[in-house]
Amino acid sequence: LCQVINCKVAFKKQFNGIKYNWIQLAGHAGRFKPGDREGYILKIMDDSEKNCLALLQNDILSEFVPKIDRTSLNFDNNYYTEMQDLLYGFSNPCIMDIKIGVRTFIIDESNDKETKPRNDLYIKLINIDPDELTEEEHQTQAINKRRYMSWRERCTCSATLGFRIEAVKKSQVQEKEFYSMKKKSQVFDHIKNYTDNNKSIMEMYLNRLCCLQRNLKQSDFFNSHEMIGSSLLFVHDQSRANIWMIDFGKTRKLPDGVRLKHDVRWEEGTLEDGYLIGIQSLIDIFREAIEE
Ligand code: ATP
Ligand code: MG
Ligand code: MG
Repeated sequence: LCQVINCKVAFKKQFNGIKYNWIQLAGHAGRFKPGDREGYILKIMDDSEKNCLALLQNDILSEFVPKIDRTSLNFDNNYYTEMQDLLYGFSNPCIMDIKIGVRTFIIDESNDKETKPRNDLYIKLINIDPDELTEEEHQTQAINKRRYMSWRERCTCSATLGFRIEAVKKSQVQEKEFYSMKKKSQVFDHIKNYTDNNKSIMEMYLNRLCCLQRNLKQSDFFNSHEMIGSSLLFVHDQSRANIWMIDFGKTRKLPDGVRLKHDVRWEEGTLEDGYLIGIQSLIDIFREAIEE
């Protein structure tokens, strides 16, 4: 089941005399804008995402994250951080946003945004999976963010494979949000379709994933953080393919003395994110697709 969504924002051709060819796939609308420097875009960032990106610039993962340069740029009452436009240099690229991890919600009982029951989330759920809701939820007509996010994990392959496809753009047309792609075989077919079954592109992606996996295991950043709701951005055109880590809005420094395995499932009382489960599943799928 796919739901077609409109491309959120697109900056094309000239803007402030600068050439852009950028589009946003997933995420909230209105958080990005073109800047005044070719090859860079601006994103409204919270301090925690900015701090993560700053630490990552000097980590073994630095080649896997967008470079950031100027921060706290003020436009129309918002503060922006200038970051590398990962689409820059590609020609009409295919793009895929994959959210990594088995757990996609943060655990913060003191945060109203996470715990407050919301009617809009109840409506979202009832429109797609009415049987999922309990009597009590029907009565209050509200569910909290965590309840909604954990349902999304279960109705997609996040819970089993440790990742899910959030959105894809292939050539000009498709922008999709995949609401209930759960089976490995479905994801497999989508990845083959996304790459047009081009083995050379798939091999470039696979090499990059293997390199990412190695670097993650040695990374000071990865070993000291909980990675929630972060994505890998896949980008390729006719001749090149690359992958970057993006979206660190819900990435948190672990409390002192806490270390994660990152390759086990989340259980109540732990902070495990299952990030490496997702990376391994993607590696397996690309390997299989290449060998087929
Ligand atoms: P969310 O609601 O998921 O937290 P967000 O507002 O934090 O979203 P991101 O998830 O970081 O935004 O990015 C949304 C989309 O913008 C991505 O799917 C991708 O298409 C595009 N994007 C993000 N960062 C870059 C970048 N550095 N270069 C090119 N495209 C990017
Ligand atoms: Mg995102
Ligand atoms: Mg974010």
